[in-house]
Amino acid sequence: MELMKPWSGIIAAYRDRLPLSDDAPSITLLEGNTPLIPSVALHETLPGNLDIFFKYEGLNPTGSFKDRGMVVAFARALARKAGICLCASTGNTAASAAAYAARSGLRCIVLLPEGSIARGKLAQAAMHGARIVSIAGPFDNAMRMAQELVLERPEIELVNSVNPFRIEGQKTAAFEVSDVLGDAPDFHFLPVGNAGNITAYWKGYREYAQAGKISRLPRMVGFEAAGAAPIVEGRIISNPQTVASAIRIGNPASWKGAVCAASESGGWIGSVTDEAILDAYQFLARREGIFVEPASAAGVAGLRQEVARGRIPPGSRVVITLTGHGLKDPDISTQVAAPQPISIAPVLAELQRAVEE
Ligand SMILES: *Cc1c(COP(=O)(O)O)cnc(C)c1O
Repeated sequence: MELMKPWSGIIAAYRDRLPLSDDAPSITLLEGNTPLIPSVALHETLPGNLDIFFKYEGLNPTGSFKDRGMVVAFARALARKAGICLCASTGNTAASAAAYAARSGLRCIVLLPEGSIARGKLAQAAMHGARIVSIAGPFDNAMRMAQELVLERPEIELVNSVNPFRIEGQKTAAFEVSDVLGDAPDFHFLPVGNAGNITAYWKGYREYAQAGKISRLPRMVGFEAAGAAPIVEGRIISNPQTVASAIRIGNPASWKGAVCAASESGGWIGSVTDEAILDAYQFLARREGIFVEPASAAGVAGLRQEVARGRIPPGSRVVITLTGHGLKDPDISTQVAAPQPISIAPVLAELQRAVEE
């Protein structure tokens, strides 16, 4: 049997399309190359015979798409000999930055909005040895303070998605989708928080089209949570509220990028209620066998909504990014699907009764 060529991470795979100097070290946790899973249940339950794929980013090394951007941001930080990295985070950016900092020997400081970080993400940042600073108020306060600090301390590398190298790394997901499908899909759906990811996908698709690797561009369709929908409402939301903590953001850093991606591609930015998000979250787990965190279900909730509104032509090919793994947020999942094991004695008759009930 021929040996499979091993995957060596997104920098090795796409270096010629990344703005890294030759002396930038190639660090990696083998991020990227995530599966593009064909939908079974969503395909069957929606009308119009849609051809639906899930880009399951929960299978990156730290469990979210953030690793794609982080590895490039760290390669850049190492090339310019930064010793400290800093980020504001709703959780996944912190988990990812902490892991890549551990890997590359940098100090890592993460600023988190007080009391609203999913437990799995906090555990990751702590295990990887980040210094964790909790800041009162919503994420946007933490983001503003991170930006203020790096103005005073330019030796610190800010690894939020305002760092252009993050966007560069994240655009590789669009390359992977295109490489697997052989062309761009008709629509690309995804959640929108700080709006870095929709900006990055759109950049990736455009670059691939320019290089002649794909023959068309997808419509980009992004979804905010209804209680945290600044782009949809056209105003900063000072107290954003949603169960989907990864997109609980009232003043997105890449606001303009998201608006451009939507308008240039003929797509749009919409919003979905928490109820619809949690419904899609459970549907993915129970019917597709894919466990994501709540925010990651926003694209699926969005597709259901837009199909119901008649905005998706029959037969369309749709890719939906599932941004993060379900194990990140055990509190929400145990609330939504309260596990109630049946307790029995180790006696076969009791087990037989239990399996019948
Ligand atoms: C960061 C994140 C988002 C939002 O992505 P943006 O680039 O901020 O729009 C959505 N889902 C998950 C799981 C995330 O970690």
